[in-house]
Amino acid sequence: MRMLTIGAFARACRLSPKALRLYDELELLRPARVDPDTGYRYYAVEQLEQARLVAWLRRLGMPLARIREIRALDDPTAAAREIRAYWARVEAETAARRDLAAFLVHHLSTANTGTRPGTHTVAHTGTNTETDLSRKDTAMLELRYAAHSDRGLVRPANQDTAYAGARLLAVADGFGPAGGPASSAAVEALKFLDAEEPPAGSVLNLLEDAVRGATDAVRDVADGTDEVGTTLTALLWTGSQLALVHIGDSRAYLLREGGLFRITHDHTVVQSLLDEGRLTPEEAAAHPQPALLLKALSGGAPAAPDLRLQEARPGDRYLLCSDGLPAVVPDAGIRTLLTAAPAPDEAARSLVTAANDAGGPDNVTCVVADVVETAA
Ligand code: MG
Repeated sequence: MRMLTIGAFARACRLSPKALRLYDELELLRPARVDPDTGYRYYAVEQLEQARLVAWLRRLGMPLARIREIRALDDPTAAAREIRAYWARVEAETAARRDLAAFLVHHLSTANTGTRPGTHTVAHTGTNTETDLSRKDTAMLELRYAAHSDRGLVRPANQDTAYAGARLLAVADGFGPAGGPASSAAVEALKFLDAEEPPAGSVLNLLEDAVRGATDAVRDVADGTDEVGTTLTALLWTGSQLALVHIGDSRAYLLREGGLFRITHDHTVVQSLLDEGRLTPEEAAAHPQPALLLKALSGGAPAAPDLRLQEARPGDRYLLCSDGLPAVVPDAGIRTLLTAAPAPDEAARSLVTAANDAGGPDNVTCVVADVVETAA
């Protein structure tokens, strides 16, 4: 083995001796030999590539522990897979933060126009606001809604809970021995949102209170175990927008101008493996535990739900559903049934029926709401 002094090795891999000493202390890259008398570090020529890799991974922002794991892999293909998985996770986290940032920007912009209605606020809040104001002048929007929940054909009990009201739409899918009480506790904790119009600019506080209330309520039911809990997907109507709160693998879809869009991301192990490129869609569809959740409201460690603000348009049709629907009815089928039904009640019923016609392996719950114009 050809050995280089730390100085020669540093020059060869274009890193500083200081960086190499740091990598040694952090156990990211150990010298091939340390002279027992002088303490000088010596590196093998073969370590050059490893040193560069460590430097690149640090530049990528990868945590030290993860770099160590990658260094321990002898197989470059496995290392490549790990880097891809790491980056997919970074992008997913960034996307969640991006949604939250957009939510806050939107919230602050609309709060501004809400407290000072009039044309002079339009100039600096942009054309979206101008459009909103002119629409509010001509027509009011409101929700028409319906909810249906069914035990399905296999499960002994229905652990789903649904709610649909003039301002609040919610679906919760409980799991564990007290899954039913858990899902109903989560939805019960949100119901105050339906009672009265949110004061201008307080949507964030309301949502935070609601999420905290639901979290506490589920924790009480679960009594310290993460084996009991629930998903929660809810939309809060503000008069022109829908604020979305989502945790778990229930879903929200939007049918707009004939297209079906899923506006929630499943917090499941399978979805994260798909995101990271570790599973193909075909492998994901055949996964033995498709419903294994990454995040939920439970008695275990608290987890933050996704938040998002959705601009409502007249003609929009929203669907909230538990996983019992998409597990057996593909998106194309959901779109067909949602499009065909003239009113929310028929839409929700036909979707529940379709799930049961496909075997009804799970509880199935559908909440459908239309955004409609009413005369001002
Ligand atoms: Mg379910």
